This record gives sequence, structure tokens and C-alpha cells, in this order.
Amino acid sequence: MAHNQTAARVTVVGSLNMDLVVRAPRLPHPGETLAGRTFAQVAGGKGGNQAVAAARLGARVSMLGCLGADASGAQLRAGLEAEGIDCTALETGAEASGVALITVDDASQNAIVIVAGSNGEVTPATIARHEAAIAAADVVICQLETPPQAVRAALAAARRLGKIVILNPAPATGPLPADWLPLVDYLIPNELEAAALSGLRADSPDAAAQAAAALQAAGARNVLVTLGARGVLAALEDAAATHYDAPKVAAVDTTAAGDTFIGGFAAQLAQGASVGAAIRFAQRAAALSVTRAGAQPSIPTRAEVDAFTSFA
Ligand code: ADP
Repeated sequence: MAHNQTAARVTVVGSLNMDLVVRAPRLPHPGETLAGRTFAQVAGGKGGNQAVAAARLGARVSMLGCLGADASGAQLRAGLEAEGIDCTALETGAEASGVALITVDDASQNAIVIVAGSNGEVTPATIARHEAAIAAADVVICQLETPPQAVRAALAAARRLGKIVILNPAPATGPLPADWLPLVDYLIPNELEAAALSGLRADSPDAAAQAAAALQAAGARNVLVTLGARGVLAALEDAAATHYDAPKVAAVDTTAAGDTFIGGFAAQLAQGASVGAAIRFAQRAAALSVTRAGAQPSIPTRAEVDAFTSFA
């Protein structure tokens, strides 16, 4: 749509990984060698997934991060460019590209080892070198798969430049530093992350509302807790906590549901949508993604989401 070309700009600061995915009858025991069924090499990393989601869902996207000078790095960069994502702020570092070794068993359980590699080379200096990418955005998204000092610098730059700032606190192992939350407009954890950040349970809409209220008391303006098939709990600064149901779908693979939600939400906010409309759109996009296998391959386009709406 024409207005997307001019207004809706999203910059993602974050991680890019090559996902090496094997399927096996079960997860191996220590010391065991197991025959797997299939192997696939696919683009991943929360930053990359969210950038692809925002691009497919209608925004002009820039990616700020760091790849290795290796085959994975070249492949990941080409993949982003094929989505129309601006890679001017994507550096090439000294380390190997980030990698995620993922084993999925027949019960769809997984075991994942991530090596950050070049994602660990994103520093406050990287953010400073590419401030133009943040300045050009309407909405800036960060996650926690790059070093914390770099995330802090990106949040601070985005806040200083008057951008809408989204933090997806993933992975979260505990509370965020106290001075981070006031830099964030929309904190978007899933239920496990909301629990880790707040020290409270967040496994139902009511519990999530309590956890979100605690995070707001700690300085977060707006908190959206994603609750999987149970939708989203939105605690906004100027309204009572509101629960939004998720569309009912037959789930095949929930990988990247959260990343699709965040990319879609950001793309909508960048286009000037209301928060409620952005949540509903992002949930339709995420619901569609869970009906398909894989991470980035499962992320729908805006046209697919619009078509899905028409019969939802
Ligand atoms: P994450 O992928 O980060 O763990 P969630 O599991 O909370 O995040 O999913 C993010 C969003 O994706 C949910 O808020 C919901 O909108 C959508 N979603 C996830 N699982 C389902 C499902 N089984 N059915 C419908 N929507 C889903």
C-alpha cells in the first residue's frame, strides 16, 4: 500500500542466527549417538525473525546487527535482502555467525544450544555508528540476544530520538536493570519471560495482569504479555488491563509465534494503528504462523493476514 512506502519504518536491533535443525525420534542422552531423520539449515535468531515479520507485514525495515564473514553470514544477509530489508546497518565481525543447534523429537519437544558468535560483537559503538538507522525509524525493536550494553545503548538512542521503543525481553533470566524500563514504550514478554522479569506467575490472564502491574510499578509504560493460545494481556498506561483472545487455529508449530506477533505489532504501530488494532492484527498474523511449520517460513504476509481476517 502506498502509505507503507513513506511512513511505516521499523528498525530491528538484534540477533541473527543460522538454525541447524535436526529431527530425531527422541532427544539424545548424554554420550549417546542417535540417528536423526532430517536436517535443515534455516535463517533464525529473534532479531532476524522479527525483521522478516515486520517486512512481510507491511513495514519498511532496517536491520542493525552483526554477522560473521562466513557462508552463513552471506546466506543470512541475502535472505534479509530478499525480503526487502535494508542491511546498511548490518556489520560483518571477526567471529563466526551466530548458530542455533536445534534437535526436535517426535513429540515436538526440542533441545537448543545457541552460540552467539558475531551477535556478541554488537556493542554500544556499533549502535552509535548506525544511529542513522534508528533515527530513520518510527518504531525500534530490541531483544536480549545481543550484549546487554548494546541493547541499553539502542534503547537509549531510540528514546532520545523520540521513537516508539519496543523491547521483547527474550530470553529473560531475571529482572531487567531498573534504568531500562523507563526507556521502553512497549515491553512484550511471553508468560515465562513476564514471570522471570517480575518474579510473579503469569500463566493466566489474571496472573499476567498482576505481573504486568508489577512491571509497570517498576517503570514500564505499557506491557503486553503474550499467552500462547490464550492470547494477549495488555496493560496500558492509560487504561485498565485488557485481555485479547487469540484466533482459534489448529496449531502445527508455534516456533516464531512471538516473533511474528512483535513484527506485526511494530509494523502496525509504525503505520499509525491504534494499540488495540495493532494487537488484533498481530494476533491474526501469529495465529497464521502457528498453522505452518518452521520459523521464518511460517511468517505470513500482510495480504495473507488480511485474507485470514475476512473469514475469521
Ligand atoms: P512465544 O512464541 O514468544 O513463546 P507465545 O507462545 O505467547 O510467544 O505466542 C505469541 C502469540 O502468538 C500469542 O499471543 C498468540 O497471539 C499467538 N499464538 C501462539 N500460539 C497460538 C495458538 N496455539 N493459537 C493461536 N495463536 C497462538
